[in-house]
Amino acid sequence: MEEKQLQEGKRHGRRLVFVLYPFQGHISPMLGLATILHSAGFSITIVHPQFNSPSPINHPPDFTFISIPDPLSQGKVSPGDFAAAMAALNGDSVADHLKLPAINVRTSAAITFIAFASLPHPQHHGYMSLQELFSQDLGPNLQSLKLKELLEPMTSHIHSNALPDLRAKMREATSSSSAIIVNTLEFLEHEVLEIIKGYFSPPIFTIGPFHKLAQTTFSSTSLLKENTDCISWLDKQAPQSVIYVSFGSMASMDGKEVHEIAWGLGSSQQPFLWVVRSGSVRGSDQPNPLLPEGFEEGVGERGCIVEWAPQKEVLGHSSVGGFWSHCGWNSTLESVCERVPMICRPFFGDQGFNARYVCRAWKAGLELEGTLERDKIEKAVRRLMVDEEGVEMRKKTLEFKVKTQLALKEGGSSYNSLEELVEKILSF
Ligand code: UDP
Repeated sequence: MEEKQLQEGKRHGRRLVFVLYPFQGHISPMLGLATILHSAGFSITIVHPQFNSPSPINHPPDFTFISIPDPLSQGKVSPGDFAAAMAALNGDSVADHLKLPAINVRTSAAITFIAFASLPHPQHHGYMSLQELFSQDLGPNLQSLKLKELLEPMTSHIHSNALPDLRAKMREATSSSSAIIVNTLEFLEHEVLEIIKGYFSPPIFTIGPFHKLAQTTFSSTSLLKENTDCISWLDKQAPQSVIYVSFGSMASMDGKEVHEIAWGLGSSQQPFLWVVRSGSVRGSDQPNPLLPEGFEEGVGERGCIVEWAPQKEVLGHSSVGGFWSHCGWNSTLESVCERVPMICRPFFGDQGFNARYVCRAWKAGLELEGTLERDKIEKAVRRLMVDEEGVEMRKKTLEFKVKTQLALKEGGSSYNSLEELVEKILSF
């Protein structure tokens, strides 16, 4: 007991500084992690750009928020250049400048280390090419998959000149950090984590899903206003009957694709909850006028369309039986760890790897590829929601939910990893 009090005493006055990128998919897990470490006794400072700044009222009053000027808020760059400008603001360089130990936080899957960092060749000096990397086998849990199959979505970049530099930078930043934290679960990425440990010396802590460990009364990290009316609509639906459709905070599509989705969902006969984010339809700021004429009247009470949903609550609702997603890593974790199988429609970046995990490695979803057409959509929805195939996937995600609960409990992998992380930070 005394030992425990001593440990907790040591945490007071220890301040952790989080450096945020201004994207929903980064802000939510980073604030989740901050909440977890705050509950573990650390003081928290959040440094964030003015653009897309998080709201302090949703967090404990002793969180310190520091907003820094950024080129987009100052009107100096277009949104397209903004990502590049923000890449310059990275936590490692801030820590370096202040001569503080840096912790590298990965808010995407562990597999992105392999995809985006160059790895040293075991036999000769220099780095492995992606082709060499691809030939590695994965362990029994990923069955017959090779890395190639998981990483194939990035093969189109192999000949890009920019990639080696970027990969080298990422490797450098990761290798020189004092610790690596990944928002993942040991059981989901065990084999990949084993490969990564062979290439990076800093200790790796897997304490995901952050949003589950971070559950407190200050839980909303949404930049957009959540429409909670959809929860009362879900309350009226049959158990596991609703397909939830959302493509995250950044993906966009054209008007024709929106129409195909509308007709596909309409003819599937399943109840649906569809997030049509304002600005997500190219060429319009307004989602509704872009829906086919008469569509909303036609589907009536069977459909619910919102601009932004309380997604975690939606996925935890007993009426939701499937999620058609772009496969951002947060959405993927929120879905499979909450027993909801997926229709995967990746758009860019790591979403392609995540989709392959879900469909090929975990068998917890199906891929919807090629041009979006209403018949294909209707078929995919029915395969997931009604057919035997979907029943099998639901069994798989139920198993994931149980394993996630175990991982978060005392003695579980994420719980233990958090304890070890706290020890590590105290040792700095
Ligand atoms: N999200 C939400 N409401 C919505 C759609 C998304 O709260 O209507 C949240 C979702 O729960 C997730 C985040 O936004 O935590 C999206 O992150 P993800 O990594 O899935 O995708 P990104 O937006 O980065 O592409």
